[in-house]
Amino acid sequence: MKAKFIRYLINSKYSVSRALNFPVVTPAFIQINVTSRCNLKCRICTTYQFPSSAQSELSTGEIRNIILQAKQMRINKIVFSGGEPLLREDIFKLFTFAKNDAQMELILTTNATLIDKAVTRKILDAGVNTVQISLDGADAKTHDHIRGSGAFAKTQEAINALNTFRSEGLAIGLSYTVNSYNYHQMHALLELGQNLGVDHVLFIPFIEDNTYAHSNHSLSSFLLNREKIDDFRGVIRKIVDFKNRHAKPAIINAHNLYLYEKYFNGTLKNRHWQCFAGFHWIQINPNGDLTMCGFHYGNIRENRLKDIWYSAEAFRARGRIKQCQKLCLQPCMSKP
Ligand code: SF4
Ligand code: SF4
Repeated sequence: MKAKFIRYLINSKYSVSRALNFPVVTPAFIQINVTSRCNLKCRICTTYQFPSSAQSELSTGEIRNIILQAKQMRINKIVFSGGEPLLREDIFKLFTFAKNDAQMELILTTNATLIDKAVTRKILDAGVNTVQISLDGADAKTHDHIRGSGAFAKTQEAINALNTFRSEGLAIGLSYTVNSYNYHQMHALLELGQNLGVDHVLFIPFIEDNTYAHSNHSLSSFLLNREKIDDFRGVIRKIVDFKNRHAKPAIINAHNLYLYEKYFNGTLKNRHWQCFAGFHWIQINPNGDLTMCGFHYGNIRENRLKDIWYSAEAFRARGRIKQCQKLCLQPCMSKP
């Protein structure tokens, strides 16, 4: 009850922030995309197509400095994302710093194909709290169609390795990008997650450009067309039923899952869902740029985090976000 009330209060503050176009509440987390390099070439992704060079990426020292600045802003949660974060040689040093020197909660988003038992041990020793794994199918055929041959088997191996150490309090989550090729397996994914003992699942509707910086209409075949929408409605009903009957894996989408139908058939409106990009969390790209939905509003190599977050450029970017008509329904842009 108390937790619900606190969440209600914080959510109200995010709404006030949006109305004022000025953040009156601390961001829920900071996400550092430590690289846009990746060892996979997923069909649904634009990130890997624009890889950062190791020279242009924020250095170990620069990321440590960002972590300390975030802590000074009272941000207690950090997401290490990419690209594939495990490609960085200093990634475990960064985890350890965020955990030991900044006492932050650590979340790693990963395709998990580089995780074996030895890497799992390092992840745990560095203090990671949650490993959020991309899994886009409940079987090898579907997942590998999207993420490449052999990816499903490697991800299963990784989850098994992580499960070996579950007594140490690590949470495992799955992220499932819902699209025309895999929507029919959403329920099977939940059952698979149950069998694998994962803690939660996040359903993310496919968008044509997951960097928000490059248009890529060539991916539009992944959007659900009208013929599939009726079928999709039935799938969502099953998912909601699963959510009501099972505690695990928890479906952690904050928004109503029935909105997916409106998203895919193009009838989603601002009155159904509001975007909190620029109010809810801070994103930093591999070269130090701060962006909200592709709108650049500063670079951490030039200014301090707090100054950028409260700058006139940030104010302008938030104004543009509030006018967005492309409502993408991304769960990270929802209120917590
Ligand atoms: S979706 Fe993730 S794992 Fe796949 S290519 Fe893009 S960054 Fe890599
Ligand atoms: S809803 Fe609009 S402004 Fe918000 S993240 Fe999506 S595309 Fe960007």
